[in-house]
Amino acid sequence: MIVAHILASKGRDVATTTPDKTISAVVAELSARKIGALVVLERGRLAGIVSERDIVKAIGLRGAGILDDPVSSIMTRDVVTCRESDTINGVMTRMTRRRFRHMPVVEDGDLVGIISIGDVVKARIEEVEHEADELRTYIATA
Ligand code: AMP
Repeated sequence: MIVAHILASKGRDVATTTPDKTISAVVAELSARKIGALVVLERGRLAGIVSERDIVKAIGLRGAGILDDPVSSIMTRDVVTCRESDTINGVMTRMTRRRFRHMPVVEDGDLVGIISIGDVVKARIEEVEHEADELRTYIATA
């Protein structure tokens, strides 16, 4: 299975913000959408990613006053992305090795979707269940 299969079922909507927005605005957006990260766009281009983990870390280090600071002060700038043709297994391996749970999907410089670890695990379970069904049918009819 590849990333394009996940996007076909979950859609291509990506929740985004900009570097100048406050961290409290990000908290409100994450909470309202029930998600864990926003992609940061600057003049329409991928500039970073900010996740709940960045916010918790910053509050833990510097206190709740950081909620008025801009997203640019805590976002990760070096974003690892994937392509629609990448395999789910490959994406899962990269997420596990690098210890993050979100991966924007980029094609020719354009943001076309986002994959979370939840999407990847769901896709893998469906794949394994499908293989098990095929094996059961094969054994029953052999
Ligand atoms: P997460 O597990 O996605 O909540 O993120 C954990 C940390 O990795 C945070 O510092 C995020 O900003 C960062 N992060 C999340 N996704 C990515 C990504 N695709 N590329 C680089 N860093 C990321």
